[in-house]
Amino acid sequence: MSLLQRRHEYHRILADWPSLTREHFDALAQDALNLLPNWARPYLERVVVVVEDEPPPDEDPDLLGLYTGSTVFGETDSSAWPEAPHVVTVYQGPHERQCHSHGELRVEVAETILHEIAHHFGIEEETLDEIGPIERARDLP
Ligand SMILES: [Zn+2]
Repeated sequence: MSLLQRRHEYHRILADWPSLTREHFDALAQDALNLLPNWARPYLERVVVVVEDEPPPDEDPDLLGLYTGSTVFGETDSSAWPEAPHVVTVYQGPHERQCHSHGELRVEVAETILHEIAHHFGIEEETLDEIGPIERARDLP
């Protein structure tokens, strides 16, 4: 299963992360997707994960990820139409700026992806806040 897509070419080489290529970040995102339990996969057939460099200009520049689409229960968010794919967008730039080690970056990318996928399963922001850090994000090999 290849959920992962990249919408824009990544063309910056940041001084802080001289070794962090686009392929490397994509690999971190793929590692996170590999954490998903098998029972979850049938519900993700119409979900795509897209990596973008930065959030859109009208969003918080620190935004790590975004989910657009309806839930597995069919509740459609007002901005989506019924046949629209469900999209998890992960922003590379904010992750790089907010993490200070490779290990931290890895966990943070996994947390973002699992957090956004949780929205697809109907889990609201407040509930995710109460749950706190997603432990499964620390299960990376
Ligand atoms: Zn959220």
